Amino acid sequence: MRRMLEATVRGRTIRAVTLSGLRLREPVAPSLPRRLRGRTIAGLGRTGKYLLVDLDGGLTLLSHLGMSGRWLFFPAAPPDALEHVHARLAFTDGAQLWFQDTRRFGLLRLVRTAALARDPALAALGPDAVAEPPTGATLHGLARGATPAVKSFLLDQRRIAGLGNIYASEILHRAGVDPRRRAGSLGADEWERVAGAVRAVLGEAIGLMGTTFSMYRTVWGEPGGFGERLRVYDRAGAPCRACGTPVRRIVQGQRSTFYCPACQPRSRPRGRARSAGTGTS
Ligand SMILES: [Zn+2]
Repeated sequence: MRRMLEATVRGRTIRAVTLSGLRLREPVAPSLPRRLRGRTIAGLGRTGKYLLVDLDGGLTLLSHLGMSGRWLFFPAAPPDALEHVHARLAFTDGAQLWFQDTRRFGLLRLVRTAALARDPALAALGPDAVAEPPTGATLHGLARGATPAVKSFLLDQRRIAGLGNIYASEILHRAGVDPRRRAGSLGADEWERVAGAVRAVLGEAIGLMGTTFSMYRTVWGEPGGFGERLRVYDRAGAPCRACGTPVRRIVQGQRSTFYCPACQPRSRPRGRARSAGTGTS
């Protein structure tokens, strides 16, 4: 999403902003339209799942898609029939950028750029999974003694920022790690595989402009291309793309987890580093 907005709205100047007036995750400040008017989008940043729209004059629009948010870009006149649009940014050249959010867990907050690092939402985040990809050793260290299941561990934004529910299932499948295992029980070789899978899955998914499971769309309203590459997510009962075993669905921390019981064995194979090539036999 950051890359798509970089290509579409960077350099455009905001002529007017209209709000729905409805509350999102937190209320949207009624002063937002007045403070955004006349400003030019200077750059697009991202930390974890937070998008940072930098404006001239030292302000940043901090936003989050929540469960169902979308940024939609219209180079010319947008349709007038869209529902659940909570912010409409109209640019001086006639283009528009809309924030649509059905379930309203999204976020729009204007912050002084210089004070961003102190914003409570960002201050709580761990290193970004793309900008500072974790190494196996980093993950192994973070997980020492951790009792949550490894799937829940990967979703905890305070440890690693940016991994969501779809990618956590995909990462563990590629790493061959059972999502139910305690994070603290994984060995160094297993964390190496998880770290490699974090880089591979996020790299591919970003390259294909994301994953459409239900709500997500690109800024042009198209589904993301990674949905067709999912190996386990939302595929309960379907054959694992690696081995043909039916994929299972379980619920962990009130979120769906999908995994292959053959590729992701419950117990760690003893006495050898499985497919990690670390030399033990
Ligand atoms: Zn399998």
